[in-house]
Amino acid sequence: MTSLLQKKLEEKTYEILFELEDEFDLDLKSLPEVYYVGRNFNPYEVGLPIRLDFSLKKTALFFPKYNVIFTATKDEGVLGEEVGHFIHHQFLHKRHIKEVPLSLEHFGMGVVREAIGFFCSKLIDPKRRSQYKKDNFLFKKSLEGVLRHIRYIAIMGEYEHLIHQQGYLIGEKMYQGYLSGGIDIGDVKEVLQKPLKGKNEAFYEFIKLRQRFVGGKFFKQNLIKKKNLSKT
Ligand SMILES: [Zn+2]
Repeated sequence: MTSLLQKKLEEKTYEILFELEDEFDLDLKSLPEVYYVGRNFNPYEVGLPIRLDFSLKKTALFFPKYNVIFTATKDEGVLGEEVGHFIHHQFLHKRHIKEVPLSLEHFGMGVVREAIGFFCSKLIDPKRRSQYKKDNFLFKKSLEGVLRHIRYIAIMGEYEHLIHQQGYLIGEKMYQGYLSGGIDIGDVKEVLQKPLKGKNEAFYEFIKLRQRFVGGKFFKQNLIKKKNLSKT
């Protein structure tokens, strides 16, 4: 039997999806499945061979591989982010599902993904704030410094944290730019629709977004060329 909460969350998620689809003037061909994750939820019972070994309390998660959003919250900002991930995924090259964690490409893809997700969540809930107060890359002076830091953070077990910190920061600045009229929705749509197919393209996109919307010592120099990354 479908619970009332399941039905409500499904409806709310689709409402958010249609709102974002309208905002970006898109015509999407598919919808994600949406599941409310309560205490007794078992993914196997709905035919999804996923082990939910993380705590989903007050959060939601989009699984690209199964085209499904799991949610334990009705918070519109949180749902907006996951719906943003779903929309973004419709345009990304399929290889990003299988990206090797800790690679340059994986990191770049993660940051671009979170930037788009956070921007979408701000469209739905303008009061949403990032919980990340720091900017680890603010004083980095070179590409080598940035790469070294990513590797160090990975060893410290804070890789996903850094991806979210950087993504949310860029997403927030994009949203501020959108509010002030510095950029329009078409500029964000352009980023959203890039398949990021080429080698290191996702990492290069992260650098470009960082330069454009956030800055910081190294990123302001604007010296990074795509070909420089192939040596790394
Ligand atoms: Zn996210």
